[in-house]
Amino acid sequence: MNKLKLSLVFFAVLLLTMSSVAATCNIIVITDPSGNDPNGAAAGSMSFADNMFQSTFLLSRSNHFAVLSGGTGSSDTRLDSIVDAVASLENNASAASAASLASQFKGARLVVGGPNIGAAVGGSFNAYVITVDDSSNDIKVTPYNSGVATLQPGQKGAIIHLRNTAGNPLYGTADSVRKETAMNIGKMIRDGYPATTILAEAMGEVAKDSGEKYGGGGVNLVSGISTSDMFTPKELNSTGYPMDEEYSKVCDSCGWAMGFPAAEAYEKCPVCGGDLRTVYAYQALGDALTVSSKAVSVSVYGSDRPGLAETTKEIVEASVSKYGYDASAISGSINRGINNGLLVGVDHVEPKDINVKQGSKAVGVYYKSLPSERSSPAWDLPIDGNILTILGSIQTAVGIILILLVLFRSRLLKSFQNR
Ligand SMILES: [Zn+2]
Repeated sequence: MNKLKLSLVFFAVLLLTMSSVAATCNIIVITDPSGNDPNGAAAGSMSFADNMFQSTFLLSRSNHFAVLSGGTGSSDTRLDSIVDAVASLENNASAASAASLASQFKGARLVVGGPNIGAAVGGSFNAYVITVDDSSNDIKVTPYNSGVATLQPGQKGAIIHLRNTAGNPLYGTADSVRKETAMNIGKMIRDGYPATTILAEAMGEVAKDSGEKYGGGGVNLVSGISTSDMFTPKELNSTGYPMDEEYSKVCDSCGWAMGFPAAEAYEKCPVCGGDLRTVYAYQALGDALTVSSKAVSVSVYGSDRPGLAETTKEIVEASVSKYGYDASAISGSINRGINNGLLVGVDHVEPKDINVKQGSKAVGVYYKSLPSERSSPAWDLPIDGNILTILGSIQTAVGIILILLVLFRSRLLKSFQNR
């Protein structure tokens, strides 16, 4: 609880010094109200405007709820509404009563929800509530623009809020895109797609058709995964990554990956000669949030070189999908990566430097050589082993109750301190 307060105070100090901007698209999707499907609830925000990180979306990993914000109010007004909503949700308030707090703050909007509490939007909004009936599969899509609009707990469905930002070349499209996307969300829920996939597809459609396209990002409410700063702006007063554009090229056979624009130079995998798959930003969001049987939790020890953990993860995932959870095969793949220059600044590894937990789909890689008397490295997972076992796998781990997207990035903080 102290951590929560500390985070919010920190968050407050940052927001108070910033100008006012807001998310213009907030989406929350719940496909499994029981909370059993690790991909059954997801939420995301994006906008045409600068400084998307201010339209913060908070995710409580312990209580499985998210708070998305936006609107025309000032940042400190928005912050007050977020703090009130988080506090009331921590005290077991309903989604509807937490969202209704937005109306006490001028211009603010709150979208709140979670797999067990349903979802709601309150304050200043133009939204559709989408419901899909469990037995008849009937899709209902209803517009709301005042009061509080609610997706009842236990109900499969979604809420989408969308407005156009002034200056957006596609200004005027919000009404039709909101409706179109709401209907497509309903169809995807009916057809059994998980919430993480639906969120990604919906964000792709909104980005392309309405121009409210800059990340932003998303959260998986059940598994506690966020896209962190994958799509958010690197500098203050700039836009994030366009969610409808190419994000990276990946080689599915060896794990090589390269982000755009550098990826443009590659037609074939430079390591193994394999075909490359182009991933759009909205697809990358879906991939990052979706817990799949293919996903492996990879922990890297002995070196904190930038990029090392990410590249190691790609290589280990490719190795596991090809050869299974085999320490010799994984160490072989890593050593090939070192020989090919894919991994730099680390020494070759041996099978004993690889710790494999097939049951929880986790792999530990120890780059620093171990004392010779030890045959197997100590297991020191950065996250609770229980969570891993329950989920089977989990893709990222950030160690606090609330993930405050981007606000913890050191470069952002630096640019702040230098102003
Ligand atoms: Zn390759």
